[in-house]
Amino acid sequence: GPDTDTILQTERLTKRFGGLTAIDSVDFGIDEGELRCLIGPNGAGKSTMLKLVTGRHEATEGRIYYDGIDVTELSSHERVRRGIGIKFQAPSVFDSLSAAENVRLPLQRTGDGDLSEPIAEALDRVGLLDERETPASDLSHGQQQRLEIGMAAALSPSLLLLDEPVAGLSIEEREEIATLVTELNEEGMTLIVIEHDIDFVDRIADRVTVLNQGSIFREGDIDEIRADEEVREIYLGE
Ligand code: ADP
Ligand code: MG
Repeated sequence: GPDTDTILQTERLTKRFGGLTAIDSVDFGIDEGELRCLIGPNGAGKSTMLKLVTGRHEATEGRIYYDGIDVTELSSHERVRRGIGIKFQAPSVFDSLSAAENVRLPLQRTGDGDLSEPIAEALDRVGLLDERETPASDLSHGQQQRLEIGMAAALSPSLLLLDEPVAGLSIEEREEIATLVTELNEEGMTLIVIEHDIDFVDRIADRVTVLNQGSIFREGDIDEIRADEEVREIYLGE
C-alpha cells in the first residue's frame, strides 16, 4: 500500500477502449505538495490518466489510491467531495453565464446558503474579481482558462488536475497561468499539470513524468528529462 507522504498512487492501472489500450498497467505516484508535470506525445494517454483519477472514466483494471484510501470504485462526485479537482482539456465554461455564475456552479453542488463570499474568493484567487459580471464569452482566452482553474480550485481541492491549461495562450497569458499555478502549489495544493510546452513545464515543475503509448516512459527532474535523448526523440521530435 501507499506510504504516508503519497497523496496519489495507481497500481497496474489500465484503461482499454475496445481493442485500444490507452493506459497500460501504470504505477504512478505523487507526493503530497508536489507540482508534477505530465508530458508526452499526442495520444500517449495523458488525458485518459487524469480522467481515471477523477472518475470520469472507469478503470478496466488496476487500483487508484488517494489519500490512503482505495477510490477506484467511487463516483466522480464522491472523489470531488474527497478533494480531487480537475480542469478538463475541453473547454467547460458556460459562455452565456457571467464569471461569477460559472464559479457558482461547482460551489452550489456541494454547499448551500450564501455563496457570494466563496464566489468572490474564487474569482479573486484567479485575478477575475473585476470581471465578475462579465459573460464568459466576453473574456479573453487567458481569462477563460483562469476562470476554469478558478472553478476547479473553488472547492479547495487537495489534489488539482489541470489538463493543458495554457494551450493556445499568448506568452503573457502563459506567464499569468504559471504564476497562478505556482501560487496554488505554494498554498499547499498538490497539482498534476499536463502541458506540451517544455519551457512552461520548466517554469513550473520540479519533477516530470513522460507518458508514451499508455506507459510511463521516464520520470525525473526537468533537467534530466530535457537532456534525455530518447525523450527528445519520442516527444520533441528531434
Ligand atoms: P493524450 O491526452 O495524451 O493526447 P488521450 O488520453 O486523449 O491522449 O488518448 C489516448 C488514446 O486513447 C488515444 O489513442 C485516443 O484516441 C484514445 N481515446 C481517448 N479517449 C477515448 C474514448 N473516449 N474512446 C475511445 N478512444 C479514446
Ligand atoms: Mg489530452
